[in-house]
Amino acid sequence: MAMGQCGYCGERAGLFGKVCAECKKLLARVAELRGKVGFGEFLDGLAETGIAKPKILKFLDADPDGKGSVRDQVTAEMTTELMKVMGISGRQTAPEVKRIRNSVNKESD
Ligand SMILES: [Zn+2]
Repeated sequence: MAMGQCGYCGERAGLFGKVCAECKKLLARVAELRGKVGFGEFLDGLAETGIAKPKILKFLDADPDGKGSVRDQVTAEMTTELMKVMGISGRQTAPEVKRIRNSVNKESD
């Protein structure tokens, strides 16, 4: 990743910035919504920022820290929450979500 480039969307983030203004806005919205809403409402909440959808999708799939994309992290949290509701112990992790998603994608090709 080049200096001054946003770690999420790859656009210019300013000289010392790691995240551009729009992705900062998205991150703040993610922090507000995560753990409180389902995935549909979560996406609607991000769309309410007025940021273009292709950029939101790019943001969701980016993995600037190598900890899993925002999409996988949020999916993991929602799955863990669902497992708790259903009385299943354990927790889902972002790498596991990614692994499952990749295997599903392979099967549907
Ligand atoms: Zn950005």
